[in-house]
Amino acid sequence: MECIFCKIINKEIPSEIVFEDDEFIAFKDVNPQAPVHILIIPKKHISSVNHVEIEDKTLMGELILVAQKIAREKNLAGYKLLINVGREGGQLINHLHLHLLSGLSHLKSLNI
Ligand code: 5GP
Ligand code: ZN
Repeated sequence: MECIFCKIINKEIPSEIVFEDDEFIAFKDVNPQAPVHILIIPKKHISSVNHVEIEDKTLMGELILVAQKIAREKNLAGYKLLINVGREGGQLINHLHLHLLSGLSHLKSLNI
């Protein structure tokens, strides 16, 4: 498997892990776009939102709950959740990931 995020899951590539359980792992983005920039990914390799199937619906809900849990633990006053879909949507890594961004005042009004 050449997927870089699967390698992070398997600890073949180091990362700064902020949360992990049986189904998800969350780690700091290597090139942060905000003071808090965390990537939350399912351990199941799903290439993108376009590849989510009905059997993944619980997993997708739990993905949001992981983001909420991390935000609570970090006492974030507010945050943005972002998923890029497809190359034209800005997705560079083909393993579904949720960006958790916080800590820049301009993010409040930025429609990214
Ligand atoms: P995308 O553009 O696919 O939505 O976001 C991919 C993100 O993964 C980018 O923000 C990029 O900085 C991050 N990223 C790429 N490679 C690595 C890596 O090896 N380690 C970590 N921690 N983040 C990575
Ligand atoms: Zn993968």
